[in-house]
Amino acid sequence: MATTKKLTDIDPALLSAGIFNEDLCARCGTCSGSCPTKAIQANDRHFPEVDPEACIECGLCNTVCPGDKVPYHALAEKTFGWDPQEAVETFDGYVQKTYIGHSTDDTIRGKGAGGGVITGLLWDLLKSGEVDGCVVTRMKPDEPWVGEPFIARSYEDLCSSQGSKYTLIPVNQIIQEIRNSPGRFAFAGLPCQIHGLRLLMEEEPALKEKIVAVIGLFCGGALEMNLIPELLQSKGIAKADLKDFEFRGGPWPGRFRAIKQDGTAVDIHRYDYNVGAYNWLIHLYTPKRCQTCMDGSAQFADIAVSDAWTRGEDGQHKFKNRSRLLCRTERGLELVVQAMERKNLECEDVSGDPDYETYKTQTRRKRRGAPIRIQRWGGRGIAVPAYDIRLPGANGKEKFNERVSALCLWLGEFRFFRMLVLKIITTCLSVPFVEYRIWAKRRRNMRDKKKKKKK
Ligand SMILES: Cc1cc2nc3c(=O)[nH]c(=O)nc-3n(C[C@H](O)[C@H](O)[C@H](O)COP(=O)(O)OP(=O)(O)OC[C@H]3O[C@@H](n4cnc5c(N)ncnc54)[C@H](O)[C@@H]3O)c2cc1C
Repeated sequence: MATTKKLTDIDPALLSAGIFNEDLCARCGTCSGSCPTKAIQANDRHFPEVDPEACIECGLCNTVCPGDKVPYHALAEKTFGWDPQEAVETFDGYVQKTYIGHSTDDTIRGKGAGGGVITGLLWDLLKSGEVDGCVVTRMKPDEPWVGEPFIARSYEDLCSSQGSKYTLIPVNQIIQEIRNSPGRFAFAGLPCQIHGLRLLMEEEPALKEKIVAVIGLFCGGALEMNLIPELLQSKGIAKADLKDFEFRGGPWPGRFRAIKQDGTAVDIHRYDYNVGAYNWLIHLYTPKRCQTCMDGSAQFADIAVSDAWTRGEDGQHKFKNRSRLLCRTERGLELVVQAMERKNLECEDVSGDPDYETYKTQTRRKRRGAPIRIQRWGGRGIAVPAYDIRLPGANGKEKFNERVSALCLWLGEFRFFRMLVLKIITTCLSVPFVEYRIWAKRRRNMRDKKKKKKK
């Protein structure tokens, strides 16, 4: 008589962390993308589910899962061929050169979250025939409140992938398709997706040959998948009436916008996405695993791309529609230089200029808050990812801030509280809060500038 194999028959040490513990799952899709028998599929919240019958207990999904461990030293070796100290010890990681730039193609630049630099680089590689496809993302055409990865093979495909989607997308699922497709590919993704990809590339030399460029996005954290449905509800828009959802629609820096079936665009909030939405919602909708993530700058990409938030003496943003590029590897530097030579990117070298350093506020969440949380949760016996780097100590103010953030995130677990906050930030009730924040940010920026000048 045939026996039916159950999940409990498999040694947990052979399976990816997310299968047993959602809190450790980055929902990057590496386990389902790597499984040689396709025994792992993502459910509708992007968590992995395994078919025990199909599982051959090879342990690969566990080896490459970046959910329960981020081996910084091994990742540095794999990325750079050596282990630069900055790559593991600093927020920005190892950087050879820093540029501020934009795509020279007006459509790509206009549709970009920043300067359309990522798409400009990918287009440069595709057009020149250096790659046959690019791993990118879009909102699902039939369910525009959910993101999905796909392989872009044309200019139109690339344009349709543009813009930041501040939601979880299991990008590495696409590896199944890459394995079965001939040719070479470029990859654009978030830090956790790059951790999983690099770990898998090391296990699979054929994949390492195929992926010839890894472009990373800075990441302050993705937002939970229930965000868009709840935003739609708070604005009285039916899911069936939604054609597309843009996180950075309209003029730079963009706004959360619902595009309705009849083509009309509805702004979800009054201010831009940065001051009026993302930086508030992150306190309510940050997924559990993002709360313990320490890589905010895609430390193991060939090139990491961030927004260019630099402000001038007047406190206003210096650059519109531009991005900042951190070239980390020789390959990354080569990609940017050749894209400039082929006139697909226009960049200014700002290496070493303190005006273009990463803002302290950007480093706070992932390099100050996350280590405190990891130590605090670990001490309480809660499963946390293992980092093989020294976790920095923290002062009283930082510990207090982490507790306040934890309290907000706990409140965010209650739907009633989330809907109440959404009602505030999507209406004129947000004005005093956001105006105060804008004023405080400008003041802090001027103060920091004065301090730098004195130095
Ligand atoms: C969740 C998230 C958090 C971010 N946090 C920060 C931050 O704190 N600070 C900062 O400076 N920048 C952050 N960024 C990056 C920033 O918003 C821009 O994406 C980046 O500057 C590139 O802009 P661009 O115009 O060059 O790219 P574009 O030409 O617009 O191309 C964007 C590329 O990013 C890919 N992409 C979009 N969303 C996702 C996703 N969810 N998962 C994987 N790939 C995706 C697209 O497929 C596309 O290839 C974040 C982005 C995301 C998605």
